[in-house]
Amino acid sequence: MRCEVVAVGTELLLGHVVDTNSAWLGERLAEAGIDCHFQTRVGDNGQRIVAALGAALARSEAVIVCGGLGPTPDDITREAIAEVMGGALERRQPLVDAIRALFEARGRTMSASNERQADVPRGAEVIPQTVGTAPGLVCPVGERVVYAVPGVPAEMKEMVERAVIPDLRARAAAAGETAVIVSRTVRAWGITESLLAETLAPRLEALDAQDSPVTMAFLASGMAGIEVRLTAKAKSEGAVRSLLDAEESEVRASMGSLVFGVDDQTMEVVVGTLLVRHGLSLGLAESLTGGLVASRLVSVPGASAWFRGSVVAYDSRVKRHVLGVPDGPVVSESAARAMAEGAARVLGADVGLALTGVAGPDPQEGVAPGTVLVGLTVDASTEVTRVQLPGDRELVRQHAAMGALDLLRRHLSERPGASGR
Ligand code: ATP
Ligand code: MG
Repeated sequence: MRCEVVAVGTELLLGHVVDTNSAWLGERLAEAGIDCHFQTRVGDNGQRIVAALGAALARSEAVIVCGGLGPTPDDITREAIAEVMGGALERRQPLVDAIRALFEARGRTMSASNERQADVPRGAEVIPQTVGTAPGLVCPVGERVVYAVPGVPAEMKEMVERAVIPDLRARAAAAGETAVIVSRTVRAWGITESLLAETLAPRLEALDAQDSPVTMAFLASGMAGIEVRLTAKAKSEGAVRSLLDAEESEVRASMGSLVFGVDDQTMEVVVGTLLVRHGLSLGLAESLTGGLVASRLVSVPGASAWFRGSVVAYDSRVKRHVLGVPDGPVVSESAARAMAEGAARVLGADVGLALTGVAGPDPQEGVAPGTVLVGLTVDASTEVTRVQLPGDRELVRQHAAMGALDLLRRHLSERPGASGR
């Protein structure tokens, strides 16, 4: 079963709107085990939409077209589909009434132009609207099918989940296809992308040589760390899962403690879990990251159970007066130490984590940009780690946040009483 995507809208071609719908649909189709080999963007032009649909139908069993279902004159997807189906549009009175009722339920009056949204190509079925007002369409073209869904992302997603994917899966099953494709992301920190690629090269070659149903891809994103994305295809959910389990073990074996989690186990989630496991609370002192670390931690639901707060000690006077940093340079081991201890003290936390350094672009106190000192105080003992980070100001700040959290993660993982990662 192959399904293409046709995104309609001149704004997509001009770059005024980024075509996130196609990206989302591509991911969703892959998860459903349906191949998506082509994605097309086309402007609000009748003949070109007809041509795009014709080309897609010549290659694939199904097409999802998104956008151009609104009430305005430039919304012409309905007309284009009717032409591809070789029939006319019919206005369906019950649909007009249903759309009017949707407007009235929201305390609005339907304008005459909205009646166009009740036009349906002859032979098509309607997907009822629940979020917006434009209904979707299921349009048979011979043995093939065109699904029309709205362009507004929330409306599109809801309709695809509710009606399109189930219909596609039913068609695939009827054709005797039951492939399931699932991805898993292994998350790591503390290695460059190129070194990671070298480390995993033998495994990649092996997968390739075996013509394996598992594929592997790398992505380095400052905020999230390094991601190794594993994708497997098999007949059943169970079979896919065991393929992914086996591959995850291979990756973990070559990367060891660099791996901190999979999928939704982000660094902040993992740190939170470890703090809970040890019954510890955390307080931060942030200079160059200016609250970045705190912001990530509070994105975790239930963070109040283990996170006390952060002192954003940007100015030297704040470091001294609030945290008790002694006179002398503020990008130094002794400042990082005093900041960590000060954070734990003033915030009433068991663990104090502090970051001070030079984000750049200019040196500070004669210290080079990218120099970061992380102080960690636990159980009345404090350690300070100095790192030198590459990149511009933004990247240095992101990597500093990630590095500090990773330091805490490693400390807590090795602490007696912790089990697992
Ligand atoms: P409406 O009833 O709002 O007119 P519609 O089905 O006609 O819905 P469009 O007019 O094509 O949809 O798009 C409505 C809005 O949805 C666009 O202005 C844009 O913000 C967003 N949108 C449309 N297509 C896409 C896309 N492919 N990716 C992301 N956003 C999109
Ligand atoms: Mg529109």
